[in-house]
Amino acid sequence: MYYPMYYRIDPTYILVLIGVVLSLLASARVKSTFARYQRVRNRAGLTGHEAAERVLHGAGIYDVRIEHVSGNLTDHYDPRNKVLRLSDSTYNSVSVAAVGVAAHECGHAIQHATNYAPIRWRGALVPVANFGSTIAWPLILIGLFITGESSSLLINLGILAFSAAVLFQLVTLPVEFNASNRAIRILGSNGMMAQEEVGDVKKVLGAAALTYVASAATAILQLLRILILTGGRRDD
Ligand SMILES: [Zn+2]
Repeated sequence: MYYPMYYRIDPTYILVLIGVVLSLLASARVKSTFARYQRVRNRAGLTGHEAAERVLHGAGIYDVRIEHVSGNLTDHYDPRNKVLRLSDSTYNSVSVAAVGVAAHECGHAIQHATNYAPIRWRGALVPVANFGSTIAWPLILIGLFITGESSSLLINLGILAFSAAVLFQLVTLPVEFNASNRAIRILGSNGMMAQEEVGDVKKVLGAAALTYVASAATAILQLLRILILTGGRRDD
C-alpha cells in the first residue's frame, strides 16, 4: 500500500529544523567574523604561539607545551598531556583572531590549573554523555515499539540517557564563556593589546561562543521533541 508523504510528516520535526537553522546561523556568523579578523594584524605583531606563551607565563603556568596542529579551528587544550595545540590559522598568524583564539585556549589551561569546577564536571560528563547519546534513541524506539510494562521503563531510560547529553551541552556553556572572559581580561590588562583590539577579540570569541549556545539550544529542542513524542506512553 502506498502512503503519500504528507500522512507521515511528524509535526515535532519542526523542533529539529529550528535547531538546524540556529546551528547554521551560528556557524555562518563565526566563519564570517573569523575571516574578518584573520585579516587584521595585531599591533604588537604577536603570533598566536607567542601570545599563548605570554598568557600562560603571565598566569604562572610553565608546564604546558604549545604545539602546532593541522586543520582550521582545531585549536584545543589537552589537559591529560598538558599540551595546548594551535591550528594552522592560529600558531604562526599575527592576526587579532589568532591572538584571541590562543588566549581562549590558555583560558582552558588556566581553568585546569586552578581547578575551575565546571571544567571538572564537564570532564566527568564526557563518557556519560557519549554513552547516553548513543543509547537514547534505540531505547526510546524499542520502548515505543513494544507493549507492556517494560515499554514505559525503556522510554524513561532513553529520556534519562538523552538528558545526560543535554546536561553536557549546558555545562559546556560556563566553561567556554569563562575561558573567553579570562582571555579578554588578560589581553586587556597585560599590555599585549590595545583596548580597541580587545574589543575586536571580544567579537571573535563572542561569535565562537554562539555556536555553543546553538548546540545547547538544539539539544534542548531535541529533548523537548522526545518528551512530546513519548508523552502518551511514558506513564502507561
Ligand atoms: Zn573553548
